[in-house]
Amino acid sequence: MKLSRISCQVFRTNLVSKLFQPLTLAPANSEKVVGPRDDSQLSKNQKLMLDLGIIRQCQNGFFHVLPLGLRAMNKLKNLVDSHMRNLGAQEISIPHIVDSALWKKSGRWANLGQEVFKLTDRHDRELILNPTHEESAADLMASVPQLSHNQLPIFLYQYSTKFRDEMRPRCGLIRSREFLMKDLYAFDESLDLAKQTYDRVSAAYLKIFNELQLEAIRIEADGGEIGGLASHEFHVACDVGEDTLLVCKTCSHVNVNPISSACELCNGTGHRKVTTLEVGHTFLLGDRYSTPLSAVFADSNNVQQPLSMSSYGLGLSRILAASVECLSTDLCISWPTAIAPYKIVIIPAKDGSNEYSAASRITGELYAALNDVAHLRDDVIIDDRCRLTIGKRVVHAQRTGYPYALVVGRKCVQEPPEIEIIEHAPNAAPFTHSLPIPELVDYFTRLAPARGASNEAAGANVEAKC
Ligand SMILES: [Zn+2]
Repeated sequence: MKLSRISCQVFRTNLVSKLFQPLTLAPANSEKVVGPRDDSQLSKNQKLMLDLGIIRQCQNGFFHVLPLGLRAMNKLKNLVDSHMRNLGAQEISIPHIVDSALWKKSGRWANLGQEVFKLTDRHDRELILNPTHEESAADLMASVPQLSHNQLPIFLYQYSTKFRDEMRPRCGLIRSREFLMKDLYAFDESLDLAKQTYDRVSAAYLKIFNELQLEAIRIEADGGEIGGLASHEFHVACDVGEDTLLVCKTCSHVNVNPISSACELCNGTGHRKVTTLEVGHTFLLGDRYSTPLSAVFADSNNVQQPLSMSSYGLGLSRILAASVECLSTDLCISWPTAIAPYKIVIIPAKDGSNEYSAASRITGELYAALNDVAHLRDDVIIDDRCRLTIGKRVVHAQRTGYPYALVVGRKCVQEPPEIEIIEHAPNAAPFTHSLPIPELVDYFTRLAPARGASNEAAGANVEAKC
């Protein structure tokens, strides 16, 4: 009996054979391929994500995100969600399309860059695909009658697709023309309270990068056309980044100006050059938007005051691609453990082998037992392509980036049966060991996710003022 048939009768089973993961295999004879791809133009994350069926390009700068990619993205959203909830933020959805009238009120319309997609509706009204939502969020608050200081602070966030008409899309999801962002808009009673909010959200951002195993650097930045009183960028060290930072070897201060020879802080001259990619941006806005858009509240003396506003953005598509770029080798994807599409793949013995029938039964039991572990529910998949050797499927598992491959092979017919565990962590050689089933389930039960566990962990990141 086929393994898939046994398992599917009991409950829905995640099976590699059913997974929509179109692989791009290197052609044996490249002359037969029409329009061969020029791999020299592809960054590592882009090549890996295309080859391993994580994304698929549909037009220049536009990508389908396939099941494995979307699972990783949804886990990234869940991780960010947990931090947003900790801050007391509430999720909303702001329309993608906005009337130019709102941007004219804030004064941003005049400086609209060519990256912004413009539309015209049937009434000849000028509309844009909202690149950032400060106006919309301030306008939402302005629409609330009699907003009281007792209701503040209010933190509203959303996940939304953003569009940029890039001149040169590159590096897959790192610079694409459509991408996912998380943006947060905070409204406080006073600038002092807004500054406290600003520090709390910045600390949460550093924790998020820490949980993603990415070295994040926070630097003071120019507010650009968004404006405001202060602004910071979050960068990760990444070979395909667009910025170069000089980190002082003496005091770890980050000097953004690549031509400065001495450290601005300690005058030291030894620098470490780091190529970085911007993945987040924060703005302390004060009343930059609330005054022109009349977003006000009644203070304790019942006097109307403009809301003190701050806004925050995380480029989720870019973070996903940057984590693959930073943690993977040229041949194998490594995901940050927190967002690996599936945590465990089970690889049963090859069809026709002596241990095949025992392995099929044990695989079903193992799958059920692991799904009973709360943090592994729906996070296990079986590579049921049993016509392939175990070795081929182990290689596939390593290339796709499953953190754990469980091989139900020769040792599953001994007494007691044992399962081989191949652990695949970023920047480390695979680690292999074997355990009987009850001990194995115990082992994974104890490997609960460390999400939000370490408050001090953010200290591992570099925080710098330039
Ligand atoms: Zn220094």
